[in-house]
Formats: sequence, C-alpha cells, structure tokens
Amino acid sequence: MIEVKHLTKRYGKITAVDDISFTVDSGEVLGFLGPNGAGKSTTMNIITGYISSTEGTVTVDGTEILKEPKKTKQKIGYLPEIPPLYMEMTVRKYLEFMFDLKQVKLPKAKHVDEVMRLVGLEKHGKRLIKNLSKGYRQRVGFAQALLGNPPVIILDEPTVGLDPKQIIEIRKLIKGLGKKHTVIFSSHVLSEISATCDRVIIISDGKLVADAKSDELHNVLSDKRRLLLTVEGKPSEVSEALLKLPEVQRVKKLDPAGKGAFSYSVEFNAGEDIRRAVFRALSRSDCPILEMRSGDGSLEELYLRLTENAKEGENE
Ligand code: ADP
Ligand code: MG
Repeated sequence: MIEVKHLTKRYGKITAVDDISFTVDSGEVLGFLGPNGAGKSTTMNIITGYISSTEGTVTVDGTEILKEPKKTKQKIGYLPEIPPLYMEMTVRKYLEFMFDLKQVKLPKAKHVDEVMRLVGLEKHGKRLIKNLSKGYRQRVGFAQALLGNPPVIILDEPTVGLDPKQIIEIRKLIKGLGKKHTVIFSSHVLSEISATCDRVIIISDGKLVADAKSDELHNVLSDKRRLLLTVEGKPSEVSEALLKLPEVQRVKKLDPAGKGAFSYSVEFNAGEDIRRAVFRALSRSDCPILEMRSGDGSLEELYLRLTENAKEGENE
C-alpha cells in the first residue's frame, strides 16, 4: 500500500532523514518509533506531501506523491503533531469545513455524523473547539483525518500530552482503524508502539535501525542473549560442560552463590532456546542447577541502547 524508497531530507548541513526505505502492507498498523529529533515528523510530512524530499520517492497505492500530489493526498488522512484546528469553530462546523476543503464526495451530514461517532464526539458537535480538553481536541484532529474514509491514516505522536485514560482510548481507536485502513503512527514511547502495532520501525538520527514484527522485536534487538545460572560444582567443569554446547558463545563466572556454587552468565545465539540443552549438559557433569533465568535486558533497555549512541551531545 505504501512504498518509501531511499528517502533523504537535508536542511542545509543537517540530514534529518537519511536514506530510509520501507513498505507498509494494506491493513497493517505500523509503529514509527524513535527519540525526539530522530526524523519521524519529517518522514511523515514527506509521505503526506506537506514537504518535499531531497531524494527518494513515496508511492501510495500506485501513485507517487510528487508526480500526482492531489490524487495521492486524497488517499491519506493525516493528523500532524500539532493539529490545525480553528479554536473559534464548533466541532461540527470545523469538520464540515474540512469536509469541503478536502472535496469529499460522500453525503455530508451523514458522513460527518459517522466520523464523529467513530471517535466518540457525537455529543460534542455544538461545542467550541477552544473549550475542549486536550484529549477531545485530539479526537477532533483524528476525526478530521478520517474524513473521506482515506485508505491510509498517518498519525504523528497522537498521544503526546494526553492523560493515561485518554491514551488508552486513542490506542483503541488506532487498533480499530487497522481493520479497514493502513495506519502509520509515530511515538517516542516504546511501550505505546508495542501495545498497538503489528510492526515496528525504529529510526534514530535519521536512519532506519530496526524493522520487525512487534513480537519479534526483542529477538531482533538483542544480537546476543544471556541466561543467568546458579550451579553447584567446580567452575572449570561447569564452564567446560556449557562450552561444549554449539549454541553457547561465552560463559562468564560471576559471584559465589553459597557453598560450592557460583552464578554464571551464559551468552548464546539469538533465536535459540538452550535451556533444555543446558539442563542435560550440566546433569551429565553432575553439576546441579540451583537457578536459571533469562538475563536479557528489557525491551526498553535494548531500545535505549540502540538509540542513545546516535545524536551524542544533542538534547531536545
Ligand atoms: P522527530 O519528529 O523524530 O522528533 P523531526 O523530524 O521533527 O524529528 O526532526 C528531525 C531533525 O531535523 C531534527 O534534528 C530537527 O532539528 C531537524 N529539522 C526538522 N525540521 C527542520 C527545519 N524546517 N529546518 C531545519 N532543521 C529541521
Ligand atoms: Mg516529531
């Protein structure tokens, strides 16, 4: 549905987006994750045709945004980081105004009703936007993106500044969209993306550093995996037994753990589950395992490690 090829955006000497390529399938909910300043908004602004790229192309459902901007833009509903709302308008007036601006060809009153219902604004049509809470304003922005039922919905940090209850509601909305639309939404919060998306792309310092299904992200981010063991027996024998296993790369003896026992860190190749092999190897050597647990960092730690190397010295 969406094809992004070798996208690059330079502002003078700053390279905000650096040769990013990815595709999004129809009906997929893609999370676009990266710290502040990574290039998320720039990429989304290019995909939606708000700004042009220095190099590279974006194709949405067969049309290229730079070659056929009008036709391509009609396929996209966009909620920018700061939604363009008119504070003096009522919710309904604003949505009708945007409906006209977008030249949507659907029965107006019925369609606006439908969109308002979808985002939970059906009781707020007559309220002035300036009197709405931040969460409700965000819903108005959301509704505006949905006008015309575009097949692609792009949301730039839609939950920033909302309280936890509002965040959960917006997430639900996004998940619901995935059934009928192709969705890209950005965030700098890992837990948010992994809770809502089928797939995650991580960008850091303008570069794409990971592209994985949400449930495979942990494996993809940790190139090595670790088991932490406490084993009774001579350290040399324990190490020898473990190193005989082909998956094991490194064994490090850690602290003493009671009489005749030590704890160990065992590094092995990602994607393998070596617990049973470890059990058998150590039991053959008559070294009882007293404790075994995963020593991997949390997903959050892995994400931080991946993105903190970039942008040294830059704070936003
Ligand atoms: P994100 O949305 O991930 O926080 P942005 O896409 O907003 O990141 O910004 C990426 C980088 O590009 C940042 O270093 C930012 O300062 C820079 N940048 C963004 N817009 C402009 C601009 N109009 N002029 C110059 N630099 C910009
Ligand atoms: Mg941004």
